Amino acid sequence: MRAAPTILHLDMDAFYASAEQAAKPSLRGKPVVVGGLGTRGVVATASYEARRFGVHSAMPMAQARRLAPNAAYLVPRFTLYRAVSDQVMELLGRLSPLVEPLSLDEAFVDLEAGGTADDTASALEIGRELREAIQAVTGLSGSVGLAGSKMLAKIASEEAKPDGIRLIEPGTERAHLAPMPVRTLPGVGPATADHLRRAGMTTVNDLAEAGEAELIRLLGKAHGAALHRMASGFDDRPVVAERDAKSVSVEDTFEVDLHDRVRVRTEVERLADRCVQRLRGAGRSGRTVVLKVRRYDFSTLTRSETLRGPTDDPAVVREAAARLLEAVDTTGGVRLLGVGVTGLADYTQEDLFAQAAGERAAAAPPEDGDVPPEDPGGRAGPAEPGAGPEEAAEQLAARRWPAGHDVHHEIHGHGWVQGSGVGRVTVRFEEPGARAPGRVRTFRVDDPALRAANPLPLVPDPPDYSSWPASRPKSRSGAGAPGAASRP
Ligand SMILES: [Mg+2]
Repeated sequence: MRAAPTILHLDMDAFYASAEQAAKPSLRGKPVVVGGLGTRGVVATASYEARRFGVHSAMPMAQARRLAPNAAYLVPRFTLYRAVSDQVMELLGRLSPLVEPLSLDEAFVDLEAGGTADDTASALEIGRELREAIQAVTGLSGSVGLAGSKMLAKIASEEAKPDGIRLIEPGTERAHLAPMPVRTLPGVGPATADHLRRAGMTTVNDLAEAGEAELIRLLGKAHGAALHRMASGFDDRPVVAERDAKSVSVEDTFEVDLHDRVRVRTEVERLADRCVQRLRGAGRSGRTVVLKVRRYDFSTLTRSETLRGPTDDPAVVREAAARLLEAVDTTGGVRLLGVGVTGLADYTQEDLFAQAAGERAAAAPPEDGDVPPEDPGGRAGPAEPGAGPEEAAEQLAARRWPAGHDVHHEIHGHGWVQGSGVGRVTVRFEEPGARAPGRVRTFRVDDPALRAANPLPLVPDPPDYSSWPASRPKSRSGAGAPGAASRP
């Protein structure tokens, strides 16, 4: 915890849904729900218009459809979200070497470590500039929280939503937290909250007043002590850059449970490759490979294998992950797969693995394309078991033309799938930035003039922020700091 509010938390507003509204002019101002559209799908993000109907993330999709039957229901387009996320993270990286991403659209930034702010005025100014830069480059809004600790910065961004900025002055932490529900504190899930409620504690103030000894008695030493510190507004967890993290991992949830063992293995290999890409991107190597499998019944298993030395070799990680998969029963279906590497080091013992990997690479067939792994809907797979021939055909059509995904038509140009069924696919032809909604047309699912396309950028020609933030005088020294605020 520090004396100046120089920890920034950025959270994009209704990220996936906002990206879809920016891309699809006909959906602006309308309820939009992005998530798994299968029978057991859940909501990933709901637009603010859809939230008014009570739809929220992690809600079963069937329930969302009952609450907001007229909303647009779309399959996530992770290729687009990742591209926007890269733009946002690039801007954050300009503010500090210490950026800690929590997800595609959320991160902590240590402004003090970056020398970009050292007091309330300079922190607020850089926060405003950041919001402007994000809007200009991505076309989307993000909310910014500023405080002297991570916990309060995250609470501040939550309070700033949507499309706002909020600063919590150091020294006011305890008073700010006092009336909030216990669930506000990191590490308090539904079970802990329930436990505390039965002991008569519902607000953060109740926890602070109960005292450390009482919380330890209720929750055990580690959890109780940590919770008492948080409740008292004390949080000195540092912002940890990804390159300093203890592990790197990637995971995918599948639209339709995977039953085919070969397909599961292929996905694990793809994840291993992506994990290694991130590992290498951070200039790291790791010694322990971790496989995570969530099965159809939500039971989740993790298995790990520790290698003889650290590696950043994709073949080595792939093989370790494949070996771990061999020991996991996946009959019944797989909802989620993840591959991670932990025990990170800054160097690689190349000699241990390089030779064997080189031989394997020479023998391996070339990789097929770069189909995004989060996007199983984009590829035809086996139909769900038990489906009749007509249902199977429907499922295949839905997978070939997932709702919301991009298409190109030889004559009509770029569009997106509004829906498909009974051998037809309905497409709305419109592009990001268009003023008016585009026209809708229907085609046969096998129309040769229609093909899947890549997402178009939300902002076709984004402004150049390569010199942002300018070497600017500290706000204390007076007016006229140059920067994004003064850009056209
Ligand atoms: Mg968000």
